[in-house]
Amino acid sequence: MPNEIHVLFPGYSVPDPEDKTAMRANCSCTLIKASNNTNIIVDTMTPWDKRKIVEALATRDVKPDDINIVVNTHGHSDHTGNNNLFVNAEWLIVGECISQRDKYLTYNFQVPYKINDEVEVLSTPGHTISCVSVIASNCNLGNRVGICGDLFEKEEDIADCSIWRSAGSEDPEKQAKNRYKISTLVDYIIPGHGMGFKVTDEMRSKLKEDSIYK
Ligand SMILES: [Zn+2]
Repeated sequence: MPNEIHVLFPGYSVPDPEDKTAMRANCSCTLIKASNNTNIIVDTMTPWDKRKIVEALATRDVKPDDINIVVNTHGHSDHTGNNNLFVNAEWLIVGECISQRDKYLTYNFQVPYKINDEVEVLSTPGHTISCVSVIASNCNLGNRVGICGDLFEKEEDIADCSIWRSAGSEDPEKQAKNRYKISTLVDYIIPGHGMGFKVTDEMRSKLKEDSIYK
């Protein structure tokens, strides 16, 4: 049985039409119903989205208490806003920090963290220095799917690097390298603020070129 990936809400980021100094953004919020009965939620939107998330989970027959693992690809407010809904989870993984209540694991992300045999969390610094991505194998959306947070802002940022660079990058050099690396590991990407997309060889060549930092 494949692992089911449900994008509950695709992320977006657009200039605020009424305020030139601001952006309107929210993250992609993704549920993985893994084949071994593990429910994983990746990125939990802003604190104002609680009802939306509960309703979207319900349409997939999942209650907040049924979530076993919460992953926030990084600690920004549009990716962590509803962690408090999932206090039944075994682990809360915020970037490279893994915890439950007051217990904090000392885990070294030089080695990917395995949630199960087919789902793992990889260190992919760049947008923030402790960003992570989730890679799931054997999925409905592809053989290997990357849920990458803001490592990829949206599909269009492959052709136009200024999109991810201007969205903020604590380490652009590392981010460019990790963007290429992830593209070699997956065939489908769910970016932080856009629709999921298939990874083509043409995209991989462009990402490789961009990973040689100028
Ligand atoms: Zn974001």
